[in-house]
Amino acid sequence: MKIICIGRNYLEHIQELNNAVPDEPVIFIKPDSAVLRNNAPFFIPDFTQDVHYEVEVFVKITKNGKSIPEQFAHNYYDEIGLGIDFTARDKQSELKAKGLPWEKAKGFDHSAVIGKTFLKSELPPQPWKFELQKNRTTVQSGNTAHMIHSIDQVISHVSNYFTLKKGDLIFTGTPSGVGPVKAGDELEGFFEGKSAFKTAVH
Ligand code: MG
Repeated sequence: MKIICIGRNYLEHIQELNNAVPDEPVIFIKPDSAVLRNNAPFFIPDFTQDVHYEVEVFVKITKNGKSIPEQFAHNYYDEIGLGIDFTARDKQSELKAKGLPWEKAKGFDHSAVIGKTFLKSELPPQPWKFELQKNRTTVQSGNTAHMIHSIDQVISHVSNYFTLKKGDLIFTGTPSGVGPVKAGDELEGFFEGKSAFKTAVH
């Protein structure tokens, strides 16, 4: 499986990092070695002094597809979940300044927290609300209505470049409020008010 991530998909987050609003989805990929499941702890890697949490809604692809038209995209996922796109912000800034790819900052081991998924059929229609708490204080709260590129647009766009396979995950971008973690922090994500993951930082 692969994890495809969308960057810069919420306006307030773009503004907090002083980035430009993209005219098409910004895409990067995390390898399967990035997966962190089952509420396992997260260990800050040695190469960074500034790991940020980014809470994100993800969808799980249910069948293979390429060049999927937007109006059929909803047929390609039936589970939605919540996770974290951990980002080594210092490394990312260094790579961005040199015009280099972000993979070291974004795709490192255990940088993708994969929380519980929810069946689309059992959820109310979009928009969906989600939030991240750090040490029981809300640090990010998002609403899928505020995505610049909707889930269906993202699936369609991504599938023009990468064949989507059953089991792939698409992370759909983070809202504003990203920030650093340190050893001892506890992160908990909530999707539509329900706890989706808990991650202890070491
Ligand atoms: Mg992100």
